[in-house]
Amino acid sequence: SVSVALFTCDLRVRDNPVLHAAVRGARHTVPLFVVDAGVRAAGFAVPNRAAFLAACLADLDGALRDRGGRLVVPHGDVVAETCRVAAAAGASTVHVAGDVSGYAARREERLRAALGAAGRRLIVHDASVTAVPPGALAPAGKDHFAVFTPYFRRWSGTPLRGVLNAPRAVRVPDVRSAPLPAPSGLAPGTPSPGLPEGGESAARRRLRAWENGPLNAYAERHDDLAGDATSRLSPYLHFGCVSAVELVHRARRHGGAGAEAFVRQLAWRDFHHQVLAARRDAAHRDYRDRRRVGWRDEKALAAAVDAWRAGRTGFPVIDAAMRQLRHEGWMHNRGRLLAAGFLTKTLNVHWRVGARHFLDLLVDGDLANNQLNWQWAAGTGTDTRPGRVLNPLAQARRYDPRGDYVRRWVPELAGAGGSAVHRPWRLAADLDYPEPLVEPW
Ligand code: FAD
Repeated sequence: SVSVALFTCDLRVRDNPVLHAAVRGARHTVPLFVVDAGVRAAGFAVPNRAAFLAACLADLDGALRDRGGRLVVPHGDVVAETCRVAAAAGASTVHVAGDVSGYAARREERLRAALGAAGRRLIVHDASVTAVPPGALAPAGKDHFAVFTPYFRRWSGTPLRGVLNAPRAVRVPDVRSAPLPAPSGLAPGTPSPGLPEGGESAARRRLRAWENGPLNAYAERHDDLAGDATSRLSPYLHFGCVSAVELVHRARRHGGAGAEAFVRQLAWRDFHHQVLAARRDAAHRDYRDRRRVGWRDEKALAAAVDAWRAGRTGFPVIDAAMRQLRHEGWMHNRGRLLAAGFLTKTLNVHWRVGARHFLDLLVDGDLANNQLNWQWAAGTGTDTRPGRVLNPLAQARRYDPRGDYVRRWVPELAGAGGSAVHRPWRLAADLDYPEPLVEPW
């Protein structure tokens, strides 16, 4: 028999339930990735993620070739192309990872109907993207957890599936494929210069460096902006170059306070996924309507929003974070919290405006994590203190006490020593650096 392994956000051969099941259950398997026109139409194809994705696909194709196979990469509508390839190969089953966005849910529904009409079966693998499948845990009488702490308690006690080996051989039937896409073929525009390298091989290198390096000190150092002591695995998790299940198993085996704190962050990822799975409209609407301060008209604030995007708010720690985003396609979590808090609680601009800018640049840009973290920062999400406003100056002194993070990203201020860099309004008047957008408090 013949099967199709439809790759989506699980671009790896190790611990991949979709590939594993497709290969195990069939004589021949088509490893398939459809360059989906719908993703582009939805505005999700941006240069940073396109460049990273192209590298992921090339690496995945290499891993499949090492096993005697290859990746089949047609362009077009994901449902039509999957059906066409399944028919051409005579496949009876198509395997795909379960995913949480409205887009993924519609894709799954359409696939099931179209394949079913041709007598083929769609098999959805739920523990592919998250460690614990969304929907697996819920408080009595509810469809999801709205508060992290009780979720985390249940999540921690939930047994995970075991880690799956990469298949030794993948036998691919004779089907047509387009050449692998170049980054420029996936999205127009230029990627950020400091983008990480995409793909499962790069993810394994990153993972080993992380486990042999900063992991043990993660509990104390994860908020240190200049120390940069987090895993930077988020882009690899977003594209599925490494699996969340494997990361949790490995961290638990590693043990210690750092690994425990890291596992807790992975649970946050699952938490946001299960919220979005249950409340798909939270990707664009307030999850909770409980802000005390209303939104200001962003058109009236266009100049301030532009300054925020450009990293010229006059608040050095925020500007450093926004420039890191533009340069690397990535931003430290503390920077994300400060930048998002400033836009939504100091300028009172709707979180959707900032979330869109992040999605335009973040290489880990992810609907569940981005939109729900933005809602958290804006006070419309699952946070327990919606009225809290982070003070950029106090936060900068705490998380960048020597000012190194600011000096790295804001060269205009490189001459200011120590933490004085956080208060440029007290420095020489001829600096080429903007006045603060609002009165510092
Ligand atoms: P580590 O500190 O090493 O954490 C390990 C992993 O845990 C991360 O890779 C990530 O998968 C997960 N994780 C950590 N913190 C969170 C969190 N708060 N919520 C969900 N998962 C988490 N993360 C994304 O992956 N994509 C996004 O688009 C995204 N947008 C964000 C927007 C805002 C406004 C904020 C405040 C946070 C956002 N995050 C997002 C969460 C977090 O900032 C990043 O996951 C983290 O900075 C990635 O760096 P790392 O891999 O070094 O993280």
